[in-house]
Amino acid sequence: MLDQCPHSTVCLPATRMPRIVVVGAGFAGLNLIKKLRNKPVQVVLLDKNNFHQFQPLLYQVAIAGLEPDSIVSPVRKLFQGYKNLVYRMAEVVRVEPETNRVFTDIGWVRYDYLVLATGSRTNYYGLQDLERNSVGLKGIRDALDIRSWILQNLEEATITCGPKEKDALTNFVIVGGGPAGVELAGALAEFRRYLLNKDYPEIATEWMKIYLVEAVLTACCRRCPKRLRSMR
Ligand SMILES: Cc1cc2nc3c(=O)[nH]c(=O)nc-3n(C[C@H](O)[C@H](O)[C@H](O)COP(=O)(O)OP(=O)(O)OC[C@H]3O[C@@H](n4cnc5c(N)ncnc54)[C@H](O)[C@@H]3O)c2cc1C
Repeated sequence: MLDQCPHSTVCLPATRMPRIVVVGAGFAGLNLIKKLRNKPVQVVLLDKNNFHQFQPLLYQVAIAGLEPDSIVSPVRKLFQGYKNLVYRMAEVVRVEPETNRVFTDIGWVRYDYLVLATGSRTNYYGLQDLERNSVGLKGIRDALDIRSWILQNLEEATITCGPKEKDALTNFVIVGGGPAGVELAGALAEFRRYLLNKDYPEIATEWMKIYLVEAVLTACCRRCPKRLRSMR
């Protein structure tokens, strides 16, 4: 039997159990749902994507070291056999706590308990130029955009003779020396050292430069100056 208004305008199985709406199929949402398996509750999972993304390896997709499907898992496959779970692909746009409703792009859902596990966004610290002229690395689409830009730039560099233009096309700037920035810089440096020459013989290794920009000298950088030098 399907649940109709006033419980929800999104088609959901009717239930007498308390309904827990979980927004977000990231690590937080997934782990909570695993704990709720077989408990006397109905779990409604909402995510705008029908897949979970393994963010720690996004940098590998960005430098073409891994294919996207290696780090993306379909939500429905992850939860096969979960009898108390309903998944709907929906983007939450608003929460109305007074009426216990979440509004999405496919309708609204009433909840008894609501868990917002929607992750985080890239913080540009108010640097609008940076925001306009760069891409964050939070999802698979970002990683694919970065990959595409890197490869397109290198292709263009092979057909560009002007040294200035060539320089602009082969220099990469990564802002943020946290784990993701350092991993991406390191992976790019490995690409330059081991693959550039083979894949792009027209581009001299010394042309390609990788700049990692970080405001704070972190404890990690102080501990591993050798590792930082090896990226150059
Ligand atoms: C590049 C990178 C590398 C990282 N490396 C590591 C690492 O090596 N080790 C480590 O421990 N951590 C790492 N992290 C951090 C770790 O990935 C995050 O802490 C973790 O993914 C956060 O989980 P989460 O469930 O809170 O959010 P997320 O994983 O971001 O999941 C949020 C989910 O909510 C969905 N969502 C968002 N808004 C809406 C909406 N309005 N409606 C519906 N759905 C929505 C999204 O589609 C997504 O599925 C890394 C992060 C990044 C970006």
